[in-house]
Amino acid sequence: MTSPAIDLRSDTMTRPTPAMRAVIAQCEVGDDVFDEDPSVHALQERVAALLGKEAALYMPSGTMSNQVAVRSHCQPGDELLCEANCHIYNYEQGAFAQLSGVVARCVEGEYGVLQPEQLEGMIRPENQHFVRTRLVCLENTHNRGGGRIQPYEVVERISAWARRHGLAMHLDGARLFNAVVATGIPAVKWAEHFDTVSVCFSKGLGAPVGSALAGPRELIRRAVRHRKVFGGGMRQAGIIASAALYALEHHVERLAEDHANARRLGELLRQIDGLELRPPTIETNIVIFWLDPRLGTAQELTALLKQRGVLVGAFGPRSLRAVTHLDVSAADIERAGMIIAEVVGELRAGKVVREKAPAGYG
Ligand SMILES: *Cc1c(COP(=O)(O)O)cnc(C)c1O
Repeated sequence: MTSPAIDLRSDTMTRPTPAMRAVIAQCEVGDDVFDEDPSVHALQERVAALLGKEAALYMPSGTMSNQVAVRSHCQPGDELLCEANCHIYNYEQGAFAQLSGVVARCVEGEYGVLQPEQLEGMIRPENQHFVRTRLVCLENTHNRGGGRIQPYEVVERISAWARRHGLAMHLDGARLFNAVVATGIPAVKWAEHFDTVSVCFSKGLGAPVGSALAGPRELIRRAVRHRKVFGGGMRQAGIIASAALYALEHHVERLAEDHANARRLGELLRQIDGLELRPPTIETNIVIFWLDPRLGTAQELTALLKQRGVLVGAFGPRSLRAVTHLDVSAADIERAGMIIAEVVGELRAGKVVREKAPAGYG
C-alpha cells in the first residue's frame, strides 16, 4: 500500500479531528440571522475578548471578513493603503473595487513588511480631484512574504502614523495566531494597533470553515448588514462555529509544532543544490522556495513531486510554497525533504527529460 500524500499545499488542508467532530455533533444551534445561535455567540464573545475588541462577527471566509471590514470603514471613492503583495489586493479579485467602490494604493515592502517611512506622503490632500485616503491594511503573518511576522515596532509606528492622520487600521490576521505563538506577543497586544482585526479558523487552527471580524460595537453592527448583502448571513452556523471555538481553545499553542516543522523543512531545502529559500529564514509555517530555472519550472517540479506523494503549490513560474499544519508530522517533513532532494537531484542530473521549454521563459 502506498502511503497517503503529504499535503503541503496549504494550511487550509486540515481536516477536523475526532475531538472536534464530537464537539460539532453536540453543539447547540439556532438561526444566526435571527442572532439566536448560542454557539456562534460563544465564539464571537471569545474572539472579541481574545482581541480586546467590543464585538466580533463570525464570517464564512477570510475574504468576506476582510471585505466587510473594508466596506465598514470606507465609502465609494475612498482609498486604502496596503502592501503590494497582500492577500486583500492580490487574492480577493479586487473585491474592494467590485463590492465597495474603493481603490487601493499599494506600496511594496520587503517580504510583506512595509516601513513606516514608505507611507509618508501617501495621504491624498483634501481636494475634489482626489479619492479620500481612509484605511491602512496590514497582513500578519504575511502569506506571500513567506509567513513573515510584522515587526511589532513597525506595526506600532504605522498605526500611530495612521491615527495621527485620521486613517483607520485593519489587520488581515488570517494567521495572526502564528505570529502570537512565534513571538509570545499576545493577540490583544497586536490587535490594539488596529480598529478591526480579521482572523481565520480554517488555516492553521484546523477548523473546517470560517473567520471572524472583531472591532468596535458600532462598526460590527454595520458589518452585520454588509455581511448579509455579501451573502454571508448563515443559519445554524453553530455547527461550524463550535469547531472554530474548539480550534481556538485547543489548536493555538500547537502552532509551535508547525513552526518547528517548517524550520526543519527549510533546513532540508537549503541543502538542496538548485533551490533557494525566499525569504531565507523561516519564521512561522510557510516555506517559499525558488527553483533554478535551468532545472525546470515550478509547475514541472510540483507535477514530479506529486507523482512521489508530496504536494506543494506553484506560487509563481519559479517559486513554490510549502505550508505546515495540523495534519503534517515531523516524520512527514523528513520524508518530504528526502523526496524533494531526490527529485531535484534527478532534474540536476538531467534524468528527467523536459518535453519542451515553456514559452517565454528562462
Ligand atoms: C487565507 C487567507 C485569507 C482568507 O481566505 P479565505 O479563503 O477567503 O478564507 C485572507 N488573508 C490571508 C493572508 C490568507 O492567507
